[in-house]
Amino acid sequence: MLELGEDYPEIRDAIRRICADYPGAYWRDLEAREAYPTEFVEALTYAGYLSVLIPSEYGGAGLPLRAASVILEEIHASGCNAGACHAQMYIMGTLLRHGSEEQKGYYLPKIASGELRLQAFGVTEPSTGSDTTSLKTRALRDGAEYVINGQKVWTSRAFHSDLMLLLARTTPQDQVRKKTEGLSVFLVDMRKARGNGLEIRPLKAMINHNTTEVFFDNLRVPARNLIGEEGKGFRYILDGMNAERILIASETLGDGRWFTNTAKAYASERVVFGRAIGQNQGVQFPIARAYAELVGAEMVLRRACALFASGRPCGEDANIAKLLSSEAAWHAAEACLQTHGGFGFAREYDVERKWRETRLMQIAPISTNLILAYVAEHVLGMPRSY
Ligand SMILES: Cc1cc2nc3c(=O)[nH]c(=O)nc-3n(C[C@H](O)[C@H](O)[C@H](O)COP(=O)(O)OP(=O)(O)OC[C@H]3O[C@@H](n4cnc5c(N)ncnc54)[C@H](O)[C@@H]3O)c2cc1C
Repeated sequence: MLELGEDYPEIRDAIRRICADYPGAYWRDLEAREAYPTEFVEALTYAGYLSVLIPSEYGGAGLPLRAASVILEEIHASGCNAGACHAQMYIMGTLLRHGSEEQKGYYLPKIASGELRLQAFGVTEPSTGSDTTSLKTRALRDGAEYVINGQKVWTSRAFHSDLMLLLARTTPQDQVRKKTEGLSVFLVDMRKARGNGLEIRPLKAMINHNTTEVFFDNLRVPARNLIGEEGKGFRYILDGMNAERILIASETLGDGRWFTNTAKAYASERVVFGRAIGQNQGVQFPIARAYAELVGAEMVLRRACALFASGRPCGEDANIAKLLSSEAAWHAAEACLQTHGGFGFAREYDVERKWRETRLMQIAPISTNLILAYVAEHVLGMPRSY
């Protein structure tokens, strides 16, 4: 029997109380200024919620992934957005699982206390996209340093992070047995690097995600900042993917809950033709259907968390949870926007903001097609397409 895991009602309650201080007007104002939610991120950091996955010997709470999952779900269900700070939760896992004792002892307590922010994750590149193993950024060993050249795109939060977890190629693809070999992971201290071989440029996007382009021009990184073994970096990144999928699915589920609650409330109050619009089944059914889809997605998500916690393979469930929750949340978003009629377009209702935000979940950090390819090829055993 598989326990479906805790629901952490006390954590949900505490998160709701923090989020109540950051209503829609706060997020609308940030978006108008393309600003970062510094106060919101600090509130979560100092209350200890961003470090729940860091073991207690390094200053965190040492809670299971399910706790992080409910934190992110509740942030999104409250109308807030964890995109400004969620990466720390899953990037940290690469350092925790594959970093040296020295690296963990130095960085993890500082990350847990908020002294150091590990929020930037440099994987995606403009010319190679989802084909991660073909990425072009090179890191060449030169004595006690690596020299890094190349470019990343969509590196979110780079202006608001002290450290970046960077994936770069250390051995050219034509010199390795498998294309997944020869990639390495580095912890780049961006405070020292900016202006010394590292340039960050803002990338304006559909949502306020503080995302950037990052350029490396002979950036020198100490060799002691290599995580684990040289050439094994792709495996380390893959190791963290299941946690990432589960956490993003949790946020998406939270979005879906926000949309169904908001749609239900509006449909029950708005009177047209002398009765609440929610009495019409044409209005009710899309909301009810999205709710049912969210309940199904939540079951898979909970199973993924339980498998992860018990150390059993969870790739299938983590990927399917991400797929189902992103689609269920999008259906909830569409139902909510449609229920609001013209007012769905009015910024002050926050529906259009959340609608734009939740659309991202079908594309990043992994697109729906790539999840389907995983399910088709790795779960069902069909021939590989790439
Ligand atoms: C707001 C935002 C924030 C982001 N933050 C980060 C970040 O912090 N760090 C980071 O590294 N990246 C980040 N990303 C990048 C994100 O992970 C990528 O956009 C995503 O992985 C898709 O890659 P791509 O955009 O290059 O699309 P492409 O790889 O060019 O794909 C385009 C489309 O083609 C489809 N496709 C491609 N190949 C296949 C195939 N073989 N079979 C079927 N369909 C295929 C894809 O599913 C997709 O729909 C962010 C993106 C956005 C939009």
